[in-house]
Amino acid sequence: MPRSKSKPAARGSRARLSAGGSTYGSLVGRLLDWFDASARPLPWRAAKDPYAIWISEVMLQQTQVKTVIPYWQHWMRQLPDVRALAGAPTARVLKLWEGLGYYTRARNLQKAAQAIMEQHGGVFPAEFSALLELPGIGRYTAGAIASIAFNQPAPVLDGNVMRVLCRLHGFAGNPRGSDLNRRLWALAGEMVGTAAKTGRSNVCGNLNQALMELGATVCTPREPRCAACPLRKRCRAEKLKLAGRIPALPPRKASVPRTFAAIVLERDGSFLVRQRREEGVNQLLWEWPNFETGSGQAPVAPQAVFERLGLRVKNLSPFLTIRHSIMHYRMELRAYRATLRRGASPPNVGCQWISAGRLAELAFPSAHRRVVQAIVAKPG
Ligand code: SF4
Repeated sequence: MPRSKSKPAARGSRARLSAGGSTYGSLVGRLLDWFDASARPLPWRAAKDPYAIWISEVMLQQTQVKTVIPYWQHWMRQLPDVRALAGAPTARVLKLWEGLGYYTRARNLQKAAQAIMEQHGGVFPAEFSALLELPGIGRYTAGAIASIAFNQPAPVLDGNVMRVLCRLHGFAGNPRGSDLNRRLWALAGEMVGTAAKTGRSNVCGNLNQALMELGATVCTPREPRCAACPLRKRCRAEKLKLAGRIPALPPRKASVPRTFAAIVLERDGSFLVRQRREEGVNQLLWEWPNFETGSGQAPVAPQAVFERLGLRVKNLSPFLTIRHSIMHYRMELRAYRATLRRGASPPNVGCQWISAGRLAELAFPSAHRRVVQAIVAKPG
């Protein structure tokens, strides 16, 4: 039975690699023209340096453009090439990443830079397959570097591209589900392959960036600006007035509250902080001695908490409460100030007394860094 015109294509249906009955040729041309005229002047777009593109792409994962720009600019001044990154102390790399979260990304950047030095003589590999071999570089990042820096017809598929392609074709399924996801990669590959045949300069990178840019600025999750879209005439979702319902993402995980108590101990102008071990989350970052007090909203019994940390303290007083979210966790860090009891010594595993001036040189996770900032602003 022929599919009703009023319905979007079902997930996994075998539509041809085209949109609205047209080949990709005209769509690709319109997208490229739109990108030429409308692309935001982002600093990493000024050069075709694979290192600069790589750093920007990794920073942009999970982070908004406006947040990334100053981080990227500072990073590029401090570590301007693969050699500088490979040879930098890890503590410096983490400090440059401080506040971006997901610190595994920073450690993998350095591991990959070291692999480029050792295995490729310091020359950034241009081949998609060689890029995929590097630590922390997956299919998306390899495709972005290969296409933008080396003009290879390698596709990219991030959340923005998924949304654009799903709407363009009227795919109603979950774009992260394996069947539709495979199909979207194929469509993205078809589009960049079509672009490569036009012979325009930097065309593969521009096509991929155009799809991402369109998703970020026009075909947005809510209230897409279809009137300004270069794909409008061929867009199935726009035609059927279904853009607001496509793509169908799975419901978000319910948020889970987690509460921590942290202690700020001062002695002769120095503060007690500890370094996380080289395992689990936030490896090698610094933090205030802390303890998870449970997931409920019940008031913390801080004295008991700090005794469990091996700290005998007096003059305990609430200092600061930081609330933030990481993935589906709703985090609360309750920081207390106190002084050590006479004769008591702090637990020495990973703990050090650090002067207020030096605290700013260490890398802390975001919530703990805000406690540092409050201390630097109000030391007494
Ligand atoms: Fe997205 Fe609208 Fe453009 Fe379709 S026409 S791709 S829904 S912005």
